[in-house]
Amino acid sequence: MQKYFDAHCHLQNTSRVADVMARAADAGVCGAICNGTTPADWADVLGIARNVPGVYSAIGVHPWYVQNTVSDWATRMREILTDCPDIMVGEIGLDKYRPAPELQENIFIDCLDMAAEFSRPAFIHCVGAWNRVLQILKSRRNRLPRAMVAHAFAGSVDIMRTLADGYDFYFSYSPMIMDGRRGRLIDTVRQTPMSRILIESDDADPTKVISVARRVAEIKSVDLDEVADTIYKNTTEILK
Ligand SMILES: [Zn+2]
Repeated sequence: MQKYFDAHCHLQNTSRVADVMARAADAGVCGAICNGTTPADWADVLGIARNVPGVYSAIGVHPWYVQNTVSDWATRMREILTDCPDIMVGEIGLDKYRPAPELQENIFIDCLDMAAEFSRPAFIHCVGAWNRVLQILKSRRNRLPRAMVAHAFAGSVDIMRTLADGYDFYFSYSPMIMDGRRGRLIDTVRQTPMSRILIESDDADPTKVISVARRVAEIKSVDLDEVADTIYKNTTEILK
């Protein structure tokens, strides 16, 4: 049976994580990376990583929630990263269609810098703001996280190439790629180097990555076994 890894999920949104992961493992999804979104869910996310086999976790402030975050979020995040060497950084980023762009940017930069300082991978949510993210990456060339994941990536081939050639970026594809109307996105998937592809549910049900892997195999005209193997390996590379 193929082995799959969900590179970005939100298991804090289900009360039955152990069941969900057991069912996922039966279907072949042996691992998942659970992303926090605000200090209010960090305790859940940390608990899940501690108690459920196969789950790894990241904590961050999601751009949608920057306005509700507590003022001492950075101190708390720093404490957790200091105490827990396996905890990564995410979900962080910029979203053009959500309020408080300046605050989004300040918090994103602080989180990115913390990921670099603690040498943790970072999981990035970016909607409509890749050019700004690129400027930020460029300004911190020598102090960037050791691996970065563009979660639910839907950018252009050009952005993908710039990120893949210039930075240690992985591209995590979500069930969005199942939508046949997204021609530009399908083209980006086709051009993404296999060694840089991850798959994700972006949900509380990691089994969803299996159909995403099938779709990647179809788009790239590569055997599913090979796609599953490579993606699994890519994900464990990030977790090293
Ligand atoms: Zn997410």
